[in-house]
Amino acid sequence: MKKIIDGRKISNAIKEEIKKEVTELKEKTGKIPGLAVVLLGENQASKVYVGSKIRTCEELGIFSEKYHLSEKTTEEELLRLIQTLNKKENIDGILVQLPIPNHISEQKIIDAISYKKDVDGFHPINVGKTLIGDKTGFKSCTPYGIIEMLKRENIEISGKDAVIIGRSNIVGKPMASLLIAESATVQICHSRTKDLAEKTKKADILISAVGKAKFIKKDMIKDGAVVIDVGMNRDENNKLCGDVDFDDVYEKVSRITPVPGGVGLMTVTMLMKNTLLSFKNNRL
Ligand code: NAP
Repeated sequence: MKKIIDGRKISNAIKEEIKKEVTELKEKTGKIPGLAVVLLGENQASKVYVGSKIRTCEELGIFSEKYHLSEKTTEEELLRLIQTLNKKENIDGILVQLPIPNHISEQKIIDAISYKKDVDGFHPINVGKTLIGDKTGFKSCTPYGIIEMLKRENIEISGKDAVIIGRSNIVGKPMASLLIAESATVQICHSRTKDLAEKTKKADILISAVGKAKFIKKDMIKDGAVVIDVGMNRDENNKLCGDVDFDDVYEKVSRITPVPGGVGLMTVTMLMKNTLLSFKNNRL
């Protein structure tokens, strides 16, 4: 069997499903889902992410609006924009591209977005819904994409030992909620974890969201493990790479996601799926 999990192929299949549904809903109702994307400042990586989100909307027939604000925008101004977007009829999803400048509280902004339009799945209500397994909430896009990948590749999750490295609110913690809901036994590791390799070597499914290039080596994984690489880093030649030393671990794994071509593509696709879900929840 093929070892590499092809994020592009899976994400293209999901995008086709979304596009078909958007077209059908448009014919039936005359309306289409809408996403507002807010970008502050000139961070190059953020600009690339926002560009890719807007292009994907266009590809799938989803309406999008981009608000590119100065990095000097005040918290009050941003909160006012969010209030306007919360009320806007043709907008189903609101996304503020992170990170935002330090003078603005990230949590205040996340809290201000209506949880009904929080297609990133970062609002505390959606985080809570994910934790209690309430399917009406929005799941955080990266972990949601990982679960979808595992399912579409027929990788058994139930009863498996899953180890997540990283405890961020956008990856590690929601990943744990979703894996628990799929009946995995879950352990979260972080920078204070003792004997990390001893833990990761027990994982049937290892998910790395650390942000350190080639951090995971073959002596840290179990024979036949499924390895999911969330990291987006630059190597010594400034080439995009994950947290996992792909060449080093390749022989030992049963399945692995590459970087690029793995988890990253799924994240944008699940954002589109959440936008469609919001449209169906709120406007049909
Ligand atoms: P983050 O908030 O910086 O979290 C990193 C986590 O790694 C923290 O929990 C940290 O522990 C842990 N960590 C750091 N050094 C460690 C070590 N030596 N041993 C064990 N754990 C360690 O990052 P994030 O936002 O979750 O993102 C993680 C990576 O995924 C980044 O490369 C990011 O670019 C990427 N990412 C990719 C996507 C995608 O779509 N592919 C989406 C989101 C993020 P502490 O909590 O103790 O500090």
